[in-house]
Amino acid sequence: MPKIENSILQEIHFSDIKQKGISLFIKREDLIHPYISGNKFRKLKYNILQAQEEGHKTLLTFGGAFSNHIAAVASVGKEYSFKTIGVIRGDELQKDFEKILISNPTLKFANECGMQFKFVSRTDYRLKNSDSFINNLKNEFGDFYLIPEGGTNKLAVKGCEEILDNSTEKFNVVCCSIGTGGTISGLINSVKEDQKVIGFPALKGNFLEDEIKKLTSQSNNWKLINDYHFGGYAKTTEELISFINRFKKETKIQLDPIYTGKMVFGIIDLIKKNYFNSGTKILVIHTGGLQAIEGMNTILKKKNSLIIE
Ligand SMILES: *Cc1c(COP(=O)(O)O)cnc(C)c1O
Repeated sequence: MPKIENSILQEIHFSDIKQKGISLFIKREDLIHPYISGNKFRKLKYNILQAQEEGHKTLLTFGGAFSNHIAAVASVGKEYSFKTIGVIRGDELQKDFEKILISNPTLKFANECGMQFKFVSRTDYRLKNSDSFINNLKNEFGDFYLIPEGGTNKLAVKGCEEILDNSTEKFNVVCCSIGTGGTISGLINSVKEDQKVIGFPALKGNFLEDEIKKLTSQSNNWKLINDYHFGGYAKTTEELISFINRFKKETKIQLDPIYTGKMVFGIIDLIKKNYFNSGTKILVIHTGGLQAIEGMNTILKKKNSLIIE
């Protein structure tokens, strides 16, 4: 079974919030594995174990062309001796596959780990949870252990319940970024009675509350703040990119543009607006995602936009 060491806590000193009387720490889940991004390793841990126990040789999962989860599953396959299949959104990628492998760092990495790709149209991709779609995949690839898009299932939540430890009990508030809701669900299930969890969705839409309710046992110790998605999933603005760059310059901590950058922008903004009482101790979970920076910079450069330094 994969063993994951507790990640370190680091205090954040950032000029924008110097006089606010808030104590801000970050838990460096981005450092728990050299390749398998923070929360994705937590989410895969018990799924790897389950797949091994059931005797599967292959892991199959879904994702976009820059997905942290795709990179993580590919890396897990290499490290734990599974064959891996990535069903990737966008059949236009198929045509230029050789070129894509050069220009897309996520797929290049996954390919080097041995992942086999199946590119599907955006329309088909929407049907990925249907029985007929899955049966077609079984006919094509044989037996596999299926991991959902983003990796979220009950076993993923169990893995994320291990993010917090003795060192995090002193905090009043725990903050994390949200994609599918698996990570925050683990935090909600494992915080102490007097702690609250605040989630920052990285995408638009109001389906997340229901997802989280299905995966958690607590209803009154968490809330979502929907004001910092910057236009939607993987959308960025120059304000966000320049914040990420300034934050790194001052704190030496790299944030990613899709998840943690948006969350930390939100937390700093809320502290500036006196959303938290003076004296509040806030813990930020750095969920990783740094592999996506290179791909995002390629896109930003094409648009002549500010890039992540
Ligand atoms: C996938 C991901 C998230 C979102 O996690 P969910 O469990 O899907 O909510 C947050 N941060 C990073 C860096 C991620 O890669």
